[in-house]
Amino acid sequence: VVGKAPRGMIAYKFPPEEATTIVEDITVQVGRTGALTPVAVLKPVLVAGSTISRATLHNEDEIKRKDIRIGDTVVVRKAGDVIPEVASVLKDMRTGREKQFKMPKKCPVCGGPVIRPAGEAIARCINKNCFAQNFRRYQHFISKPAFDIAGVGPKILAKFIDEGLIKDPADLFTLKEGDIAPLERFAEKSARNIVESIQSHKKVSLGRFIYALGIRNVGEETAYDIAEFISNRLRRKE
Ligand SMILES: [Zn+2]
Repeated sequence: VVGKAPRGMIAYKFPPEEATTIVEDITVQVGRTGALTPVAVLKPVLVAGSTISRATLHNEDEIKRKDIRIGDTVVVRKAGDVIPEVASVLKDMRTGREKQFKMPKKCPVCGGPVIRPAGEAIARCINKNCFAQNFRRYQHFISKPAFDIAGVGPKILAKFIDEGLIKDPADLFTLKEGDIAPLERFAEKSARNIVESIQSHKKVSLGRFIYALGIRNVGEETAYDIAEFISNRLRRKE
């Protein structure tokens, strides 16, 4: 298309709290009240001294108002302690392959129905146990007999889920300081300590791993029995 050649990034000048990056995906996180919040998954970019890889999009209307699409080149802003957000879209960088976001009709956590009452900006999962169920799954994963990640307390864990930093327990291992740093005023430990605590417990025994999966009716003892069974089988095959 004539005139659609992307302009050089150098043409855009921003104060240090802003940078341009790509929206690689838009995911949805479910908070404590069942509120579904869209979150932009960004190509990691340095903003105000820390690497940002996610930004809140607040709600569906906000996405529509700013016309943010998956694949867009955007300006992200991070001012002070505030969670990073998408300030604007560089629409002349569009290639035509960008995808529009749609709020899921079913809760991505529990599969329950999602309702957005007329006149309200926030869509919600109406399953009252949604967050609690989800929270317990994470707590189980990091508990002492599982991955034993003591550095992530209940408050920090709830914050991670609320802010959409983790959508699956294994996401804990991909968290970077830049993801956590904006939340630091809520956390009692520094972002670095948290990341170190998680990374130092990345490797566990097979028994712990099986237990951590949280399979129904598989407690600690059964998990270790299964692990032993698998190990024996592998040994016999050698
Ligand atoms: Zn739900």
